Amino acid sequence: MNYYNLKDKEEVVDFKTATIKSQGNHKGLFFPEYIPKFDEFIQNLHLYSDEEIAFRCMKDFVGDEIPEETLRKIAAETISFEIPLKKINENISVLELFHGPTLAFKDVGARFMSLCLSYFLKDENKKVTVLVATSGDTGGAVAHGFYNVPGINVVILYPKNRVSTVQEKQLTALGGNISALEVNGSFDDCQHLVKQAFADKGINSELFLTSANSINIARWLPQQIYYLLALKQWQQHENQDPVICVPSGNFGNICAGILAHFRGLPTDHFIAACNENDVVPDYLKTRQYHPKKAVPTMSNAMDVGDPSNFTRILELFGQQFEPLKDMISGYSINDELTLQTIQEVYEKHGYLPEPHSAVAFAALEQYLMEHPGKKGFILGTAHPVKFSDAVEKATHIKVEIPAGLKDLMNREKKTVEIHADFEELKRFLLNKNQEQ
Ligand SMILES: *Cc1c(COP(=O)(O)O)cnc(C)c1O
Repeated sequence: MNYYNLKDKEEVVDFKTATIKSQGNHKGLFFPEYIPKFDEFIQNLHLYSDEEIAFRCMKDFVGDEIPEETLRKIAAETISFEIPLKKINENISVLELFHGPTLAFKDVGARFMSLCLSYFLKDENKKVTVLVATSGDTGGAVAHGFYNVPGINVVILYPKNRVSTVQEKQLTALGGNISALEVNGSFDDCQHLVKQAFADKGINSELFLTSANSINIARWLPQQIYYLLALKQWQQHENQDPVICVPSGNFGNICAGILAHFRGLPTDHFIAACNENDVVPDYLKTRQYHPKKAVPTMSNAMDVGDPSNFTRILELFGQQFEPLKDMISGYSINDELTLQTIQEVYEKHGYLPEPHSAVAFAALEQYLMEHPGKKGFILGTAHPVKFSDAVEKATHIKVEIPAGLKDLMNREKKTVEIHADFEELKRFLLNKNQEQ
């Protein structure tokens, strides 16, 4: 499979190059040259193991660039934790995507990408440094994906005092080949430092730098897998196609679901559930796309004012507004309704959603009220413990730390503190390279 750059259609690369480069020229996103349709297995998902489904979902996108046996292992490893579909009430279920090592759905994409990168880079003679800026969830998922992978160092930059306690442990307590830089500044400062490093000749002559950002196709595409796993479970109890509601920020997750739908996955409708950052719901109403400055909310992983994957969604619909509007509805849910939803879902149904999932629940509930007779599920993108402040505020319930995380929470935080100063980052990276 080849991929073209959405900003420069002349730039066409293979899967390996797109994975290593992450972005094309002019910061363009890569997009598959054609949409490979599922064969008849999609009609009979219950006959296949989850691992087989994951492999079949990905094989057309990778082609022969990774040998079949290796890709099978990578696909199985990508989903090697449970992804259950649970009923919350008569009409709404939740696909729990937070049972992976960092308790967020980003584990799926990060694992697939890190395993592919490790495969492609294993014959490089330079040691590879994966450099990531994170506002919280991405860094942990990427760190876990590369933890103990030989030949790879991960350097994470995060804004001091602006990530949650659990997130910070996930970034700073692994040790080994993972280093965390605590930056005296904002997430934007971290991202800016990373961009400077990629542009710096001195660093790039010494180190083989690669990025692990969220627009990488090897993070985007594997997110299709769990839509298939959800349908497999859905079809055991329901005989109508589901409405799928996705809490959305950068729109990678929902875009993967829509891609799976175009390939033949039976679905009724998609809902983009947003917090007050409502650029896409606004677009669906007005046909006008106006990026805005992000406003902070309690579902902070969705505080995005100009979602990068929106351009992929437009491309999937051939830049046509009408079919897009018919398939996707948008809702914007404010913090007040989010808190109220956490409380109501807990009290009425005994289920404890965190803020992102609550935004999705509120949106799906509204849609189903407007469309009686339909049923659907939301994607549960994070474990409530990752956003325990909000959950406790809404319900006064103290969220238990899952057993798998207790060990990490007891480990020591190890960081190097730097100013938002490129020379400090450069010195760190070059010294680190000398140590090897
Ligand atoms: C990243 C994230 C989202 C948003 O996903 P996108 O693919 O960026 O739309 C939603 N919920 C949680 C918990 C996240 O970490």
